[in-house]
This record gives sequence, C-alpha cells and structure tokens, in this order.
Amino acid sequence: MENRARRPVIAGNWKMFKTRLEARAFFEAFRPLVAESKHCDIVVAPPFTALAAAAEAARGSAIGIGGQDMHWEREGAFTGAISARMLIDAGCRYVIIGHSERRQYFGETDETVARKTKAALESGLTPIVCVGETLAEREADRTNEILKRQFEGGLGALTAAEFSRILLAYEPVWAIGTGRTATPEIAAEAHGHIRKLAAALFTLEQASALRILYGGSVRPDNIKGLMAQADIDGALVGGASLDAKSFAAIVNF
Ligand code: PEP
Repeated sequence: MENRARRPVIAGNWKMFKTRLEARAFFEAFRPLVAESKHCDIVVAPPFTALAAAAEAARGSAIGIGGQDMHWEREGAFTGAISARMLIDAGCRYVIIGHSERRQYFGETDETVARKTKAALESGLTPIVCVGETLAEREADRTNEILKRQFEGGLGALTAAEFSRILLAYEPVWAIGTGRTATPEIAAEAHGHIRKLAAALFTLEQASALRILYGGSVRPDNIKGLMAQADIDGALVGGASLDAKSFAAIVNF
C-alpha cells in the first residue's frame, strides 16, 4: 500500500437512505473504526437533508463529506435543486456527479455532467465524476466507446489544472446494487482504458496522476482483490457504505 503512486480514496454513496438521526448514529459507530486509517482519503455522501448533521458528526476527523449531485448555477429559480455553494455551506468538500442513477432516472447527460463538474471545481469542491456502461452496451462490445463518449463529453472542456483536481469513478451499471461485481480484471481493464483516454485528452503525467475509483457491489469480501490491481485507486461504495462496520472494513482493506 505504501508503494502506491496514488493515494487511495474510499467513498460511500448513501443514495436516498438515512435521516439526520441515523446519520449521527452511523458516525458515532464509524469514527472509532477508522480513527487510525491514514492510508486513504475517506468520503461519505449522505442525502442533502443529512449533510449538515453528517458534517457536524464528522468534525475533527479526516472524513470528508460529499453531496450526491448539484446544480451548475450558483443560485436561481431551479426548484428542488442545490448549488455547490449550498453544499459547501452544509460542510461538503466533495460532490458526486453523473452517477448512473442520475443519468438513468433524472435525465443527466454528458453535457450536464460537464457543466456541473466545471461549476464544482470553480467553487472549490472535488467532483467524483462517474462513468460506466450498461449491460446491453457491454454485451454489444461497446464498453470502450461508451466510456470514451462519457469521458470526453463530461471532461473534455476542462483545463489541465481543473482536470488534475477531479476524481473519476468507473461504475459499470450492471454491477450497481446487483450484487454482481466486476472481476478485478474487468475493472482494471476499464480503468486502463480510461487512463488512456485521459492521456489522449490531457498529458501522460496527468493521466498517471488521475485517481480512478471502482464502483459496483463493492463489499468487505471483494475490496482486497480490487485494490490489488495497480490501476484501481479506490472504491465508490453504495449499499455496503450504509453500515458502519462494513464500510470501515472496506476502508481498512
Ligand atoms: C453506487 O451507488 O455508486 C454503487 C456502486 O452502489 P452499490 O455499491 O450498492 O452497487
């Protein structure tokens, strides 16, 4: 682990789970379990309503708080939306952008991903930008083409300095919440492809500095195998991040 060129990131995406009370209980149990975990960056992304409570409960620890989505405008008549400035006000340092559930159910496109990513960076947040193919796309042998479209569409307009501040998450849609994890080899192959896309669009140096997280049914029993791959720099964890013990076991892979 000490030999890694890139510092690992383990991030939890709570999706639409947990009230403020439940968030506080999570941190009470989770904090002691990761108090000595200095080998990676730890992020928890609660729903909007629990952000401030989570930030308060994480205060004084190394755990970073993230939003699960944001609007690209600073403020305005956008009912139901939350801006980067509001996320920061609630205690966030990170924001997940372009999660496949946002793409699938809420009309997120590569273009909105690009606008949100730019706005997040301008506000000082670290975006965790998600890309990944569906099962039909993988079976049609279109994985690399889809990753290229999402990568270039979402990140192509960033400056080199902006690109150096993002985190990328490869999340094959067929592995999210299905219990069907990509094998470490399948994930590493996609990460390698993404790194090549990064080198083509930016520089080789920037591509090798990019931290790429894998997401899709990561659990305590499969994290070690995934993290053994040189191109896998961390994980974005859904279901298993809701339980303090299982998320801590993943952090302490
Ligand atoms: C996710 O929500 O990003 C995710 C990977 O979910 P799960 O770990 O439950 O598959």
